[in-house]
Amino acid sequence: MVFHEPLRPDDHEFDRALRPASLEAFVGQARVVDNLRIAIAAARGRQEPLDHVIFSGPPGLGKTTLAHLIAGEMGSNLTVTSGPALLAPKDLAGALSRQQRCDVLFIDEIHRMPKVVEEYLYTAMEDHAIDVSIDRGGDTGRLVRLTLQPFTLVAATTREGLLSGPLRTRFGLVERLEPYPPAEIARILEAAARRLGVTLEADAAHLLAGRSRGVPRMALRVLRRARDLAQVRGKPSLDLDSAQECLDRLRIDALGLEEMDRRILHALIERAEPTGLKTLAAVIDESEDTLEEVFEPHLLRCGLIARTPRGRIATARAFEHLGLRPRPGVAELPFSG
Ligand code: ADP
Repeated sequence: MVFHEPLRPDDHEFDRALRPASLEAFVGQARVVDNLRIAIAAARGRQEPLDHVIFSGPPGLGKTTLAHLIAGEMGSNLTVTSGPALLAPKDLAGALSRQQRCDVLFIDEIHRMPKVVEEYLYTAMEDHAIDVSIDRGGDTGRLVRLTLQPFTLVAATTREGLLSGPLRTRFGLVERLEPYPPAEIARILEAAARRLGVTLEADAAHLLAGRSRGVPRMALRVLRRARDLAQVRGKPSLDLDSAQECLDRLRIDALGLEEMDRRILHALIERAEPTGLKTLAAVIDESEDTLEEVFEPHLLRCGLIARTPRGRIATARAFEHLGLRPRPGVAELPFSG
């Protein structure tokens, strides 16, 4: 089952290569970056670890990148793990016991961490201590308290609503990342193109940025394809024609919708009645989580679908966008983005 924005295998490599090298080079999310800057400067001044931080927001907006940048600014080591990888307290104990003073432990998808592991994390976050069970000879299961170096937990979640109250209150900084405006995505694309050694023309950057749903990962993925296209066409730079041809080939339309988004709209239109998440997920053969985290937010922002107490519906705008004639009585919604 896919729980994340479909991360293609080579995305990881590409993400790494294009990650900004400093907080300075991180584009946008000004309020979040400002809060981090102050907290980091204060922690460094006191020579203490930074408070625990949690980032929430859809996939591909820069949560992992910020974890790397925090460790960089703190001059600390970073350990990366994820909620689903931490099956039992012992998995976490290993990572925790390796932390040095002021190090950063990044847990991605923290909402998917089992409850027992979450509870185990509480004392580590608060008291810098964990109980480990010593399993030697006949002496099975004896608990010994292990003191940890004061460290910083940086967590990321795509589902803020699934976090328990006790976990949430243990973070000193709780920051939400929002989709980026097109002008910021264009800056991210320009910086990435420079790093790739590609000349990206301004109108091409503008076009790609407007089709990327405010998500840097999507913008960078399209940039990679457009760069390939410009190269095989023998163009000296990535121009508007290459950008347009690339979008057409990827079937990314004027609102940044891809094939799956259109399948969702067609499914809702065909059903012609409010449809629950479970049913919709089954119809389009996608996980409920991915549907809710990845696809729905953009469709809602574009006013193409609406949530009613009885389920999701396609709006008149969805019919219009797909070139269909709306059925009488289909909701008209103001366009919000
Ligand atoms: P998340 O952890 O939220 O899924 P990532 O941190 O992996 O997202 O970001 C996906 C890609 O987008 C990475 O290549 C990252 O460097 C790039 N990126 C994300 N946000 C920014 C930003 N604000 N400025 C520059 N690049 C960014």
